[in-house]
Amino acid sequence: MRILVIGGGGREHAICWALKKSPKVQELYCAPGNGGIAGVAECVPIQVNQFAEIAAFAISHAVDLVVIGPDDPLSEGIVDYLEAQQISVFGPRQNAAIIESSKVFSKHLFKKYNIPSAAYETFDNYEAALAYMRNQQIPIVIKADGLAAGKGVVIAQSMEEAEKALHDMMVVKIFGDSGNQVVIEEFMTGQEMSILSFVDGAVVRPMVAAQDHKTVFDNDLGPNTGGMGTYSPLPHIEQSIIDEAIETIIKPTAAAMVSEGRPFRGILFAGLMLTPQGPRTIEFNARFGDPETQVVLPRLKTDLLDIFLAAVDGTLEQIDIAWSDEAAVCVVLASEGYPGSYPKGLPIQGLDEVQDALVFHAGTALKDGAIVTNGGRVLGITALGSDIADARAKAYAAAERIQFQGKHSRTDIAKKALV
Ligand code: ATP
Repeated sequence: MRILVIGGGGREHAICWALKKSPKVQELYCAPGNGGIAGVAECVPIQVNQFAEIAAFAISHAVDLVVIGPDDPLSEGIVDYLEAQQISVFGPRQNAAIIESSKVFSKHLFKKYNIPSAAYETFDNYEAALAYMRNQQIPIVIKADGLAAGKGVVIAQSMEEAEKALHDMMVVKIFGDSGNQVVIEEFMTGQEMSILSFVDGAVVRPMVAAQDHKTVFDNDLGPNTGGMGTYSPLPHIEQSIIDEAIETIIKPTAAAMVSEGRPFRGILFAGLMLTPQGPRTIEFNARFGDPETQVVLPRLKTDLLDIFLAAVDGTLEQIDIAWSDEAAVCVVLASEGYPGSYPKGLPIQGLDEVQDALVFHAGTALKDGAIVTNGGRVLGITALGSDIADARAKAYAAAERIQFQGKHSRTDIAKKALV
């Protein structure tokens, strides 16, 4: 079969890597791809928001399935657009992708269907939001409604900080229209966990759980990033808690979307917090997580293409999905300055010296035949091992072999799970 993956980050590299293992895949294309994806797929110079060009390519190359990686094209309706041209796609339609693209929508959904989440209010009026907020306890969480590249959430430790965040979002409009509405919600405490699921309507097939490390520095210090590293499984979290999250949060959410006339087909990503009162929803995303995918897919034993096809055919409930007992750890190598501004185009050495680990490219480019840095998060180094300690040692050993100027990584990825 001929498959086209849309996107060009570490997540899409992991998706392409997994698809490439399928004996059914004859041709694998990725638009736009990146320097590393070029090693497993034919990269096509089309950007993720160029729907007409994507459709034309899919038709002219007789593509059998298009797989959408990132959130932006999903929220802009790429699935509806391609389906209207009889192109088979794996990903949620726009009316279901809204679960990620509007926090106001998702919070209302959780309330309506009793899905455990933080208490909240939503506002489209700045004065009303300010008056409400001044009566709340600190810390307090302020979220822009729409997509904001992972930067639209502020956890304010003082009322002054909260007021500034609200003003920035609703008056200065630092996130543009994404700040037309805000969610102000209760601050929850506990460990975070991500569970991604293959979903078709009310059918939910959960993947193995993973944990991300959001902040740029060790010990959860510094500003939030897209994710500095992940691991799976989570040996310090009881399976019963994971099961509770699936039964009380993820399955009811998929069912709620069906009830709302917005059946979700694709990857439903639950960001969860394990509070003293039990698992609570932080957010849902409408696509594979980055870098969760880089530890989850290497543990998948079933052919990924078969699962995508089953979801598209309506047979997701029947397919056997098997997972490896091995542990996986992914360490992200980032550019100096990230998540602020950072240089690009720096040569990367040592890629060929990596053994015993997978190197997923997140922000790289091919320049004059050499791989150079081209993003904030540059590479994700994933190693598998008999347990977390083993996988972690291998991932860090491999990360040591790779050099580029200003390379930064956290040194405590998966440390919590060393039991
Ligand atoms: P991303 O999609 O990049 O994960 P986002 O901008 O959609 O981020 P959220 O996932 O909703 O935002 O929140 C980002 C982070 O903020 C969470 O991973 C969590 O650490 C923290 N957070 C969000 N809501 C709360 C809350 N109610 N209580 C405590 N922490 C929270």
